[in-house]
Amino acid sequence: MVRTGRRSAGSRSAAIVAALTCVVGLATTGCTGDSDGFRPGAADAGDPYVPGRGNGGYDVSHYDLDVRYDPSTDRLTGRAVITATATQDLSRFNLDLAGLTVSAVTVADARADHRRGDGELVVTPRAGLPRGRQFSVAVDYAGVPTAVVDGSLGSGGFLHTADGAVALGQPDSAATWFPVNDHPSDKATYDLAVTVPDGLAALSNGVPGPKNSADGWTTWHWSERAPMASYLSTLVIGDYRVVTGTHAGRPMVTAVAASLPANGGAASSLARTGAIADFLASRFGPYPFDSYGGIVVADDRIGYALETQSRPVYGPAFFAGDQPNPSVVAHELAHQWFGDSVSLTRWSDIWLNEGFASYAEWLWEEHDGGRTAQRNFELQYAATDWSQPSVEPGRESMFGTAVYKRGALAVHALRRTVGDDTFFRILRTWTSERAAGNATTSDLVALAERVTGRQLRPLFDAWLVGGSAPTLP
Ligand SMILES: [Zn+2]
Repeated sequence: MVRTGRRSAGSRSAAIVAALTCVVGLATTGCTGDSDGFRPGAADAGDPYVPGRGNGGYDVSHYDLDVRYDPSTDRLTGRAVITATATQDLSRFNLDLAGLTVSAVTVADARADHRRGDGELVVTPRAGLPRGRQFSVAVDYAGVPTAVVDGSLGSGGFLHTADGAVALGQPDSAATWFPVNDHPSDKATYDLAVTVPDGLAALSNGVPGPKNSADGWTTWHWSERAPMASYLSTLVIGDYRVVTGTHAGRPMVTAVAASLPANGGAASSLARTGAIADFLASRFGPYPFDSYGGIVVADDRIGYALETQSRPVYGPAFFAGDQPNPSVVAHELAHQWFGDSVSLTRWSDIWLNEGFASYAEWLWEEHDGGRTAQRNFELQYAATDWSQPSVEPGRESMFGTAVYKRGALAVHALRRTVGDDTFFRILRTWTSERAAGNATTSDLVALAERVTGRQLRPLFDAWLVGGSAPTLP
């Protein structure tokens, strides 16, 4: 993500205590295990940066979503079929779902009991699900979707716009339009069919499928075949100039809101998507997904750009004055490797996403004839507040300068220490070995130490979390 007018990090937040107990506020029984050994899955992923989000007891492999949205009433009707595997003997489990009314739930084609908690859908299958059992959950739901408004983290979720809707947001947004295990630690593939009035575009992640029209409605199909974290899903509906082509043998779909200038700064920036992705691939390793693209929305409430998988979404302010902005494109495309393909295990490591994406802006700027990465490093080094840590920044500072810029400093410090060839070998080994998975800061340090045969933990510690300016390498 990049924010427009990104604020600097505030004071160091107190660590948020994980208020996790067994199924907080939802369970009345089952915390100590039922007599047959089957017990409820946790109602939370245990990540204090996103209390209540995510769930335990199962692992999702695929979401098959079929939604219809009518902008004239702001009403969404959906059916989600979720394929998952029980990771414990499971008597009951939660999905995250904000608002919306659930009319029916089945598990393995049998009617299941369901009830709602705060942002939760609690499902009790007719019979317990043994550990290792793959099962499908079908949820029928409808209603007027809601936004996620967080004073410190910005607006996201499902926003009704002048001509349609935008569903987008970090760290959470997906639960506003489909039932989901809403934490990046549980990635899954997606198929989406979205039905909207004829004449509107309905854009999402991945490879486009056929479009079918009937009775004044058109159904658009999208398929994301690489595992995707839920916050990287998006749905953009409205009046867009959609350009469909191919790049490197894969579909390229870009779209700019029709209310923005044709052939202006937004369109010209998106047109560089393929070239920028190719440049980043020359540094980071092969592009990780089977489609490319980008979407520029016109709604000013989207005051950020987000690396939604294979097809980032950019707010209009990045192209203010109709100026091009390849830097933000480089940032969001870099996330396709760092964040999307190699994803966070927990949000306190968000510098793994933002430090590398910020560093990619420096690489692109140098490649594009601007300031060198070394010069950006020197300028940023002089401007850095070393009291703010990159790792465990606190929820309130998860989009702060220490995560982005200090993170980028750490990346360049590693490069200066090990040399260019070894540095880019570390990056390519990381994006290859961890592709389609999840990782932590410790995983990166261990990999860098393995590739180099050197002790690098002190270097990472000094640059990421040390309380004073590290010695320049
Ligand atoms: Zn970012």
